[in-house]
Amino acid sequence: MSETLAIHGGTPVLGPDAFLNWPPIDDIDRKMVMDSLEGNKHAFGPNCRALETEFAEWNGNKFAVTTNSGTAALHMSLVACGCGVGDHVLVTAYSWSSSATCILHHNCIPVFVDIDWDTMNIDTKKIEQAITPQTKAIVVVHLHGLSVNMDEVLAVAKKHNLKVIEDACQAHGATFKGQKVGTFGDCAAFSFNQNKCLCSGEGGMFVTNNEDYLAKARQVWSFGEVRTPLEDRDYHAYALGWMYRNNDLTAAFGRAQLSKLTGYIRQQRENAARLTECLRDIPNLLLPTEPKDHEHNWYNYTIRFDMEALGHVEDAATFRHKLIKALQAEGLPTSVWQAFALPTMTVFQARNAYGKGCPWDCPHTTPVAYDEADYPVAKKHCDRHTGLTMPLRAPNKPDAAKKVARVYEKVMADIDQVEKVKL
Ligand SMILES: *Cc1c(COP(=O)(O)O)cnc(C)c1O
Repeated sequence: MSETLAIHGGTPVLGPDAFLNWPPIDDIDRKMVMDSLEGNKHAFGPNCRALETEFAEWNGNKFAVTTNSGTAALHMSLVACGCGVGDHVLVTAYSWSSSATCILHHNCIPVFVDIDWDTMNIDTKKIEQAITPQTKAIVVVHLHGLSVNMDEVLAVAKKHNLKVIEDACQAHGATFKGQKVGTFGDCAAFSFNQNKCLCSGEGGMFVTNNEDYLAKARQVWSFGEVRTPLEDRDYHAYALGWMYRNNDLTAAFGRAQLSKLTGYIRQQRENAARLTECLRDIPNLLLPTEPKDHEHNWYNYTIRFDMEALGHVEDAATFRHKLIKALQAEGLPTSVWQAFALPTMTVFQARNAYGKGCPWDCPHTTPVAYDEADYPVAKKHCDRHTGLTMPLRAPNKPDAAKKVARVYEKVMADIDQVEKVKL
């Protein structure tokens, strides 16, 4: 006998307090934030500088620049690598929008590469065929906390003389062959926003091992100036700059959370391992994988529904929506992380970045196409997945995995009831 699903009036599996909130706040956070508040240095202050030093050390980079977002750090990476007007920059067809719009920010042209079904990351076998004479760089995204195969990326980049930018916004502590992401390419960007593995509210970090890239990144970061606010400024714009600096309160919070980051990631890995055990035997779920040499941080535990087996190939996105509604009604915080492949987003389809066709119609570039049919794997993924973050995060423990599994067991046991969900 199956139970009535909560969406049809049954009792939800989980109550509203089933999972603990992220991030955990303790006396370390309280003390560091209060000390900053009392310190009367509220703009780019001593906590910002300390966060840079501590993060660079934690991740294994020579240099770090703290920013007000991960997107800012991505834009700085493009500039640091010398990407400019009309240059083509390769990027995965499935990610957060700013993995690709950061390319537009500096008047470069995104060229998309389809994803690999198993890893959900850029298909490294398809990178080479997307290269044009104008290709200058590649943005690789370690999506959901799983590293891209950096041996393959670096080999293609070397052969074609491309710069490599790592979008590590979701991938704090993820490794490839034991080495942390953000240390493979020319530069990398991390995000510290609310839901990321290191949360300081908003914020981010640019990292590099190259002093020249550091100087270029700092220039766009702070009004085109060459000195930081902690140095003897001359208030002169040497180049086009933005205002991407972090502030002291946020950096204080970030430092407190960074002191606990290794423990958080360890906890996420334990929780994810338990979740995989608990979900393994539930029918019609395709669970995320962790290929050899790639150590996941489990930022987002993404499950795909087997629409072939469920008989919903033609209407996969709609049926996935019904499944999610049913899961949410049982109290599970799961949702579609990104429903659109990047090249299908309006900014690319309508080419409405800077207006008047810019930068695509610029005389310094050559045409690119954004045809959905060129990214079939990204499209298939977009229609079938659902993501899970909060139940994996500290301070939740592996017992949270059992709660997630109870919801999936109930919903997947009665697909007939899911069919009847009204959207
Ligand atoms: C969050 C995220 C970003 C942007 O970071 P913000 O701090 O929100 O600007 C970029 N890329 C990926 C893959 C992300 O998940």
